Parts: sequence; C-alpha cells; structure tokens
Amino acid sequence: MLSKKRRDFSRTLTFRLALSYTGVFILSTASAFIVCYLLVASHLEGLTDKILLDEFREFIELYDEGGMDAIRGELALEVETEDPHLTYFRMISENGEVIDGTDTSSWDGLLPDKKSIAKLKGEKDYAFGTLKLDSKPSEVRYLYGKINHNLIFDFGLVPVDDAEFLYVFRRILIFTGVFMSIASLLVGWIMARRALAGVEDVTLTAIEIQKGGMDKRVPLKSRGLEIETLAIAFNEMIDHVQTLMREMRELTDNIAHDLRSPITAIRGRCEMALTSGGSENELAEAASAAVADCDGLLHMINGMLDLAEADAGVFRLAPERLNVLDLIGNVVEMFETWAEEKNISVQIEAPEDLTVAADRQALKRIMANLLDNAIKYSPPGGRVAISARGAQGRVEISVADTGPGIGELDRELIFKRFYRLDKSRSKRGAGIGLALSRALVRAQGGEISLKSEPGQGSVFTFHLPERD
Ligand code: ADP
Repeated sequence: MLSKKRRDFSRTLTFRLALSYTGVFILSTASAFIVCYLLVASHLEGLTDKILLDEFREFIELYDEGGMDAIRGELALEVETEDPHLTYFRMISENGEVIDGTDTSSWDGLLPDKKSIAKLKGEKDYAFGTLKLDSKPSEVRYLYGKINHNLIFDFGLVPVDDAEFLYVFRRILIFTGVFMSIASLLVGWIMARRALAGVEDVTLTAIEIQKGGMDKRVPLKSRGLEIETLAIAFNEMIDHVQTLMREMRELTDNIAHDLRSPITAIRGRCEMALTSGGSENELAEAASAAVADCDGLLHMINGMLDLAEADAGVFRLAPERLNVLDLIGNVVEMFETWAEEKNISVQIEAPEDLTVAADRQALKRIMANLLDNAIKYSPPGGRVAISARGAQGRVEISVADTGPGIGELDRELIFKRFYRLDKSRSKRGAGIGLALSRALVRAQGGEISLKSEPGQGSVFTFHLPERD
C-alpha cells in the first residue's frame, strides 16, 4: 500500500516538475560554481607564476652583473629569508645535475624535471610546472629558466595560502550548492504545486460531476492564463453537456408525447370499431382515420430519421441545376387546395430564368416545410408571399406570412428539433420541420434566418450558394 502510494507520488506531475526544476537548477549552479572556482584558481596560479618569473628575471640580472658569484650570494641571502620547507632555489646544468641551491632535504622526491629542461633547449627561456610531493601540504609550482646555454635556474614554492584559500572556497561553494539545491527542491515543489493546483481543481470538479454533482463548476481564480483557460473551457464544456442532457430529456419527453397522442387515438378508434359493432361505413371511416394517424406518425419518424442523417452529414445530396420558379410552382401546387380552404392567398415573385444548383428533393422539402408553416400558422384570409432573387453569388428565397409572428426569444429556438411555440400542441406538427430545413440548407452550404415580430407575421429566408 505504502509502496504503491510512493509509486503514485513519483508519477505525479508536481513531483516530476519539481525534480526537473531542481535538476536544471543544480546543473546550472554547479556549472557556474565550477567555472567560478576554476577562474579563481587560475588567477591565483597566475599570481604565483608572476612571483616565480620576477625571481627568475632578478637572477638573470644578477648573473649578467656578477656571474655565478652574484648568484651564490643571492642564494645565501634567500636561505636566510625564505622558509626552506615552502621555497627552494636550484641551479642545474643542462644535463640535470644540481650545481648549487638551497637546502632541499625536506623536499623528498624533488628530481630535476627532464621535460622542462628539454623545453628550454628550444626557443623557450623558461617553463612552468606543477608537482605533487607527499612531503608537502599542497602542490608545488616551479619554474625552470635558462640563465645561459648550460645553466638553468629552478625555483619552486608551495603556495599554502592559496591552497588554503581554495580549500575554504571549495567548501563554501559545496555547502552553498547543497543548501541551494535543497532550497530549489522546496521552491520547485511549491511552484509546481501552485501551477498545478488549478489542474487539481479541474480533476476534483470532474470527480464530483461524475458522482452526480452536475451543477459543480471549477472555481475561477487567477492562476495564470493557461489554467484559467482550461477551467473556463472545462466549465463551458460541462454547461454544454448539461444543455445537451436537458435537450435530450426534453427530446425524449416530446417524442413520447408526440407518439402517445396518435397511438392513443389509433387505439381508441380500433377499440371503438371492435366493440361498437358499427356499420361497414363507420368501420371504413375508423380505418381511414387510423391510416391518417399512422401516416402522421410515419411522417414524423421519417422526418426524425432524415434530420439525424442531415445532422450527421450522411444525407445523400445530388445537386442539379434547377429553375427556381418552376420548383416553387411545384411546391405551391401541393398546398393549393389547403390554402384555398383556408382562404389564404399565395403569391410568387421570382425571375423566370433564376436557377440554382441544389438537390431537388432537399430544396422541395425546405420549401414545403416553410410553406406548410406559413399556411398553417396564418389565420384564414391571410397572405403568403414567396419571393426569390439572385444576389452576390447566391440565391435567396423568402417565405413571408401574416401569421402570429415569433418573439425574439423563440426566433433561434424554433430551429431546434421538437421545439414548438404551441405548447398545447393544438396544431398538427412535430417540431422538426424547421430543424430539418436548417440542416438541409446548411448541408448545401447555405443558411436560413428569420425576421419576425409578434403580431406582424414572419419572414423565413434561406440562401444557397450559386455554384456550377
Ligand atoms: P411544426 O411541425 O411544429 O410546425 P417546425 O419545426 O416547422 O415544426 O416549427 C417549429 C415551431 O415554430 C412551430 O411549432 C411553431 O410554433 C413555430 N413556427 C414555425 N413556423 C412558423 C410561422 N410561420 N409562424 C409562426 N410560428 C411558426
């Protein structure tokens, strides 16, 4: 259990971010410290080399002025002033024999350096070297300098102060490094937790929603734009899902309601026919009424299926060049009798040569739905005006009526499936005609809109792109 927790913890993004942050921090700090240390060490070495070189130049001058005697005099002086454990001077022949020098008995392992001697045989006047002797607390820095063709000056010293300084410096750097690494792990952890707190909020909200708290939302705090955007997107997604769920519920309610009424009616008619023992005529009447109800049902179910296909983009469309006036005429013909019965005049206004590339059946259904509504919702004696025109690379068709009009709030909603203003459902209809029309218009690259005011009739306008 504990090891699983530990494993889960090591898989958290917070842990990984904190670790990466610390890793990068340690790496860069260590590099900076190393560079800093090397620069200081090399600067100190440069200072030591300068001391060695100055001494060498002084010996050359002495030799030029007083020869070997002057050098011997100076060596005797150096013996008195310098610490023989930390400094030595030697005169060496070109084949490495020690000719003269200070006491080197405490310098175990100090042999003539053949490599440096070899270097002086070329162009070079002097050469530096470093040597580690067990008898000395730190490395020995020395110089071999050419006094004349067979006399070499060798001066070495142990820069104990520098070594001590570098040792303390190293310790300070290591201590600071370790302290800063621990601090960086802590800071990294806090930063990662703060950065990911928003993500955790989203996760917690998602879990609560999953448990049924559909009204829960991620609290919006200022935690950086990315996290805020995530929270907003998440909340919007849940709003959308909630709306969809509500619509689905309404949808199933509506379907159940719309199916129940005709089915109850059909059942009632059949029951009556069975039990009343009516005449043949009455039976035929009941049967034809049941058939009409079944047709209504089928119409609704087919409409739903078509709408589902159009929404899914699988409605098969076969665009062809159509004469708009002819097509409108055909559709109007289908509604003529009904319009006459309701004493509604239907007027058409369209250029004779106006054509559009569209699917014939789809266009007919759009027109039929709009005309059906216009006649259905217009009061007797009303007027329906259909007009079409070509403009700006598209064909625009409008159906205007003198019906009750539609209020602002409903103008967009009526394009949703099953949405009906007439909640009592006193008028025939399933509330899918406009949804299907919009899906069919959109499937052909167009759009449908509505201009309406309550009490002032409605104008449905759709346009289709004018393409070849
Ligand atoms: P329905 O089969 O119920 O007419 P529609 O999708 O065609 O379904 O229309 C949805 C709703 O929009 C209708 O129930 C009606 O309330 C309203 N509506 C549609 N067309 C008109 C119109 N021309 N005038 C007034 N209301 C309309």
